[in-house]
Amino acid sequence: MSEPVIEPQRRRIKEMKILVLNCGSSSLKYQLIDMDNESVLAKGLCERIGIDGSKLTHKPTGKDEYVVEKPMKDHQVAVELVMDALQDAEHGVIQSTDEISAIGHRVLHGGTVYSDSIVVNDDVKRVIREFFDLGPLHNPANLIGIEASEAAMPGKKNVAVFDTAFGMSMPEKAYMYAIPTEYYEKYSIRRYGFHGTSHKFVSGEAIKFGGLDPENAKVIVCHLGNGASISASIGGKCVDTSMGLTPLEGLIMGTRSGDVDPAVVQFICNHENKDVNEVLNILNKKSGILGMSGGVSSDFRDVEKAGKEGNHLAEVALEAFRYRVIKYIGAYVAVMNGVDAIAFTAGVGENDIQARKLICDALGYLGVKIDDEANNVRGKETVISTADSKVKVMLIPTNEELAIARETLALVK
Ligand code: ADP
Repeated sequence: MSEPVIEPQRRRIKEMKILVLNCGSSSLKYQLIDMDNESVLAKGLCERIGIDGSKLTHKPTGKDEYVVEKPMKDHQVAVELVMDALQDAEHGVIQSTDEISAIGHRVLHGGTVYSDSIVVNDDVKRVIREFFDLGPLHNPANLIGIEASEAAMPGKKNVAVFDTAFGMSMPEKAYMYAIPTEYYEKYSIRRYGFHGTSHKFVSGEAIKFGGLDPENAKVIVCHLGNGASISASIGGKCVDTSMGLTPLEGLIMGTRSGDVDPAVVQFICNHENKDVNEVLNILNKKSGILGMSGGVSSDFRDVEKAGKEGNHLAEVALEAFRYRVIKYIGAYVAVMNGVDAIAFTAGVGENDIQARKLICDALGYLGVKIDDEANNVRGKETVISTADSKVKVMLIPTNEELAIARETLALVK
């Protein structure tokens, strides 16, 4: 008699598998995560969606990689191919989509509306659409991904996890631009911040790993990758972050300039006979360490190699990159009136031992002391400061997919 009651509960616990989808304009990245132990069952990538030569690369854990070259006219077809791969007799990791509890979607922009993740309904979709203007490359693709997943797995809950949500706790003094308020009122022009899922995840992990007070810890997260940003948070709530209305503001990045005087735009327009859109494209795609190094590369490893081989511009580009990180850390310590921990994450933050060392050497005034042996590490949660350092410095690998899966699970459990 008890079977019918116990069985559904047991199944619910056993089948906590969350599918995470991250849709770009012509790509779709996915991971299927077993939340019982947070292990990745499979991950993969669909490329060239809507373009000739579409390809799905499926990587099931513990099995051979599986490549499917089939036309994908849109994200709907891509999601269907992902579902097929996940259930494939040879390369699959589940027997049926019944095993998937819910789908978590990375969504770039939640505008001023969402400060947290949310289960998708018509209202959520309307808001994602409303903010197409603020995330023109990502929000449309994110919405298409949600709709494709609704069609492929009817009845399953979809959760939107916004990249801007973490920044929504910034106070007005941090998020308002000093421009006429009518532009905020009419167009919601303000600072939002991006990489929010990563900043939230890494600051939370830093608090746990560093044994800090979860209510009051002052944490600075340096997310240093091809895209780079830095955040300041108190008790896990963001008080400031370096990206703004778009990801262009703040640090020097692989191809983005970060902060520049807006008059630079006008000057280049006037002297090079370009329009604003063209110059913004230059600031987004041809600047950063790529532009500063005289075109060597947007990849930090290439620029480091060129610097070591005597390329002066490459050296200056890397120095300027670190200099701006050091400046932002100083500013964020000031606005928080102190700092308990600094965490490095993303491609450069997790792997570039020398960049971490050089940045931290400039923080002696805070009592930061780096343990060179501990710092000789890549991609692994580690405290890299000495026991007597006044600030705990850590390497915390980011994991945006796991963060999305955790947020999704919390909302559908
Ligand atoms: P994004 O997700 O923004 O595309 P990532 O976080 O993956 O970027 O970071 C990519 C960057 O990390 C690349 O520029 C790469 O050069 C850099 N990177 C990876 N490994 C190293 C390393 N060992 N030393 C220096 N930079 C590294």
